[in-house]
Amino acid sequence: MSGNLATVSYIGATILFILSLGGLSNPETSRRGNLYGMIGMTIAVLATVFGPRVTAAGYPWIIGAMVVGGAVGLYAAKVVKMTQMPELVALMHSLVGLAACLVGFASYIDTSHPLVGAEKTIHELEIYIGILIGAVTFSGSLIAFGKLNGKIGGSPMLLPGRHWMNLAGLLVVIYFGREFINAPSIEAGMTPLIVMTVIALLFGIHMVMAIGGADMPVVVSMLNSYSGWAAAATGFMLSNDLLIVVGALVGSSGAILSYIMCRAMNRNFISVIAGGFGTGGGTPAAKGDAAQPAGEVVPVSATETAELLKDSKSVIIVPGYGMAVAQAQHTVYEITRHLREKGVNVRFGIHPVAGRMPGHMNVLLAEAKVPYDIVMEMDELNDDFPTTDVAIVIGANDIVNPAAQDDPTSPIAGMPVLEVWKAKTSIVMKRSMASGYAGVDNPLFYKENNRMLFGDAKKMLDEVLVALKA
Ligand code: NDP
Repeated sequence: MSGNLATVSYIGATILFILSLGGLSNPETSRRGNLYGMIGMTIAVLATVFGPRVTAAGYPWIIGAMVVGGAVGLYAAKVVKMTQMPELVALMHSLVGLAACLVGFASYIDTSHPLVGAEKTIHELEIYIGILIGAVTFSGSLIAFGKLNGKIGGSPMLLPGRHWMNLAGLLVVIYFGREFINAPSIEAGMTPLIVMTVIALLFGIHMVMAIGGADMPVVVSMLNSYSGWAAAATGFMLSNDLLIVVGALVGSSGAILSYIMCRAMNRNFISVIAGGFGTGGGTPAAKGDAAQPAGEVVPVSATETAELLKDSKSVIIVPGYGMAVAQAQHTVYEITRHLREKGVNVRFGIHPVAGRMPGHMNVLLAEAKVPYDIVMEMDELNDDFPTTDVAIVIGANDIVNPAAQDDPTSPIAGMPVLEVWKAKTSIVMKRSMASGYAGVDNPLFYKENNRMLFGDAKKMLDEVLVALKA
């Protein structure tokens, strides 16, 4: 493939990636967005592999790597459960970081295109910054992976003098950056490069370990953004324009998402990154523990729930992580359809951090074919709870916790929540009294107008559906 054709293909791929991002911003166009992305990526890979910079001698290596990588990706996509997606995404981000590091080292020891003067300095700077971002992304994403799948505890690890440690790390990285650029030979430059890589890896671990469970959504989107910048840095090191553009697209959209998540949680971005936010004075129950009883709860049966729903004119359904675990979205839709046929106004209230990844609930509801026009953002219907007969909470916990408003010492204090307790009756569907991801007790369960429907969400909803149809 000639250089010109490769350039034209890169421009085509870039346009498709931009269209893809545009499409993914709306559920109705997201399928098309995905398709554009897939076509764009195929063009990008073909134009790179058959482009002027790859010689025939490289093909066996490239094909071998693609077969191995493709097989691992295919296997992961087939076996991963929907609830494990956030961990998988974190793991994928770590691979982008690792790739940036490896490309950085490879491009430093590659002497096939010797550079001199300013060009050499610029290239070395690209390598240094690329490896720095890559290493932070790699180790930070691995810790995020551990936190999301529960292998690492959710509570923040707060080392004494941690801000000073970070500052010292930054100064050492700057010092060694100078040593690296001024190094007389590749061997001499290797030591500062390795020292910086180790510091960056430690910084990534420290940064994510210091962030409390309640702030994890911001970390997930922030690492998403970092992986984009790591890819862009790789693009600079390899002088690949497409990688630079794609990396910048991912980096900036991830940054916008982090901002949206921060706003949704009423958090300040810098405070989240500095870590330990929202932990002062709060004594959250250990994650998953049965919370200390803080009052009486009123259990209901599936049949009673169905009676309450039958007698309602308006119902708001609030799905959360438990709906994803139970895979209850299809039954939720069956119930919704049945109630709507009976003239009940049914709507869904989606909290921006519900589930374990941005847009988690929207994806599940779209999969179950719930019409988009009854799926509303939290801000769109929070004022409607006082005029709602039944608010039904399906496997959600933190996002409906009134302590966020009432208890300034709570780790989730200040986070906007869906005010389900303002409905005439609220019904919380979950298996036990265990806390949610943030590990805090939920006073909603003890409110006078709240009922608890204990059990697996899918099983209980199946029973509710049978009772509704009876
Ligand atoms: P929560 O984690 O607060 O609560 C989920 C509840 O679901 C649990 O209390 C659990 O209770 C219940 N549950 C689990 N399995 C089932 C089941 N099979 N059937 C019925 N219930 C079940 O989830 P929310 O969606 O309310 O809130 C999201 C939380 O995750 C927030 O703290 C958010 O910050 C955090 N987070 C969000 C991310 C995002 O990007 N959206 C990323 C990382 C973290 P029980 O065990 O008693 O059944």
